Amino acid sequence: GMEWQSEVDVVVVGSGAGGMLAALVAAKNRAEVVVVEKDKLWGGTSATSGGGIWIPGSDQAKAMGFEDNLDDAFKYVRALSADNVPDENIRAYVENAAPMLRWVTANTGVVYTSQPYPDYHAENPGGSVTGYRTHLPEMFDGTLLGEDLKTQRLPSPAASLFGYLNWTFAETYQLLYRGPGWLTGLAKNMAKYWFDWPLRFTSRKDRRLTLGNALTGALRVALNEAGVPVWLKTPMKELVTENGRVAGLVVEKDGKPFAIRARKGVVLAAGGFDKNQRMRDANAPLYNKAWASGGVTSNTGDAIRAGQAVGAGTMNMHSAWAAPVFHVPGEDRGRLCTIERALPGCIMVNQKGQRYLNEAASYHIVGQQMARRQREFGDASPSWMVFDRKYRHQFPMGPLLPLVPDWLQSGAVKSILKKGRTIAELARDMGVDPAALELQIARFNAGAAKGEDPEFHRGEAAYDKMYGDYRHQPNPCLRPLTEGPFYAMPIYPGDIGTNGGLRTNAKAQVVDDAGQPIAGLYAVGNNAASAMGESYPGAGVTIGPAMTFGYVAARDLTGAN
Ligand code: FAD
Repeated sequence: GMEWQSEVDVVVVGSGAGGMLAALVAAKNRAEVVVVEKDKLWGGTSATSGGGIWIPGSDQAKAMGFEDNLDDAFKYVRALSADNVPDENIRAYVENAAPMLRWVTANTGVVYTSQPYPDYHAENPGGSVTGYRTHLPEMFDGTLLGEDLKTQRLPSPAASLFGYLNWTFAETYQLLYRGPGWLTGLAKNMAKYWFDWPLRFTSRKDRRLTLGNALTGALRVALNEAGVPVWLKTPMKELVTENGRVAGLVVEKDGKPFAIRARKGVVLAAGGFDKNQRMRDANAPLYNKAWASGGVTSNTGDAIRAGQAVGAGTMNMHSAWAAPVFHVPGEDRGRLCTIERALPGCIMVNQKGQRYLNEAASYHIVGQQMARRQREFGDASPSWMVFDRKYRHQFPMGPLLPLVPDWLQSGAVKSILKKGRTIAELARDMGVDPAALELQIARFNAGAAKGEDPEFHRGEAAYDKMYGDYRHQPNPCLRPLTEGPFYAMPIYPGDIGTNGGLRTNAKAQVVDDAGQPIAGLYAVGNNAASAMGESYPGAGVTIGPAMTFGYVAARDLTGAN
């Protein structure tokens, strides 16, 4: 047999939200646990995210006066998800989500609040137009992490100001509309950051942890208190089976193979194949740009391949959490574009200068439409976000911030920003037919002036309106583009992670192609094929299930179920 160098009850592979929560639940159920993390930083894409979780029927929603119904939630997800996703998996998610959040609230320092954030297909049967299924974390004090603060992943450049300053969702809104006190609020947070001397000389991290940093920070503090080690720079290399069950794994530790026996089992939580170009080419030709993914660079599908090597099945490997992204040259990922598309004064066009979608739909729908358009017509990657002078002065557009003049932008941002005094001049800079762009904008403007978008219905759905400018009527998403200079920035069909992966059952056990569980092996998060199939029912449907199935897996492993 194998010569083990270490032995524990449970090994968790990957330190994202799903992995850390599984480790914590197992530890609290008296298992001896270790988390192995490939990167020198912990937290995965989860740390760089919004930290939002989609949880039907939570106590928090009830406190806001929202009476949810789990059958509605099931019906809603079932209709959107893929046919090959078993009912039991969706049921398991819907039924365990609220108990998971209750457990997290009782056992960690993260505070989640229920948000009036509509489901992404709110008008479908079982959807919630008023929201309250999406939950966001409150600010968390990074001081509690001690030295581990410095090895936590920084937030995404798309989810922080100037690439370092953390903000909460509420603060984003205050800044977006420059509401009362926005400047003092910003100045205070910047002062807190720059006068944080102990950290300022040694790290770029902001001690005020928000969004995904707040979630993963709180989980790590709880792991530290429970005595669960997170071994950094320790990639899993392969799984080891004995008598038909997974008995442990081999990692690389200090550059050498190191075998760890897992008495109760292994939880794979190593993310998707976000940054593996070869796996994308082979499995997901529609989402074929590793550089455009918002996932972290260390997510290369290692644990999907390791599962396959011991007989695991896979499912929906062609799918991704699609999203439109900006890409600033030199950055290691695409920047998710969420709010901007819904704001008045901008449109998205293809390389022929034509609109082809409702810009204000969810990032997943827009990302899917862009990818499909590119496959069919070859003119949508990149597409262009086009906006006018007023938009430029009012709102951010990806890396471009209002009030920061064009000449103060970095060279990288300048290199992708197109500008023209007239639409025709802008079009020439973009390499688009000037007459076509002029015609498109004239047509868009005629409808927008009346608050109408007869072609693509922008601003009609509850979701569109949420991100629109509430002060702008009759349609918060539509305003004619009138005054120059006009601007354009390339926008690509990208994603925020792949979401096909190992096949799992309702207990998060990895199964083979015949549906038989592989004893001792579990998979959660983007390492597993999502219960959502190819859909995105609402904000938080990637981390919500990652954590819920982490909770389910750990309870099953430790006999708590
Ligand atoms: P990750 O969090 O990526 O963790 C995987 C970890 O495994 C990584 O640390 C990786 O280094 C490690 N790993 C990889 N290979 C190995 C190996 N061989 N051995 C050991 N470790 C390994 N989703 C939501 O639900 N809500 C949101 O609000 C949200 N906002 C987002 C905002 C942005 C800007 C982006 C980019 C994404 C957002 N997402 C959101 C998507 C979400 O972040 C991911 O889908 C989710 O975090 C994936 O979680 P995970 O646990 O599967 O993987």
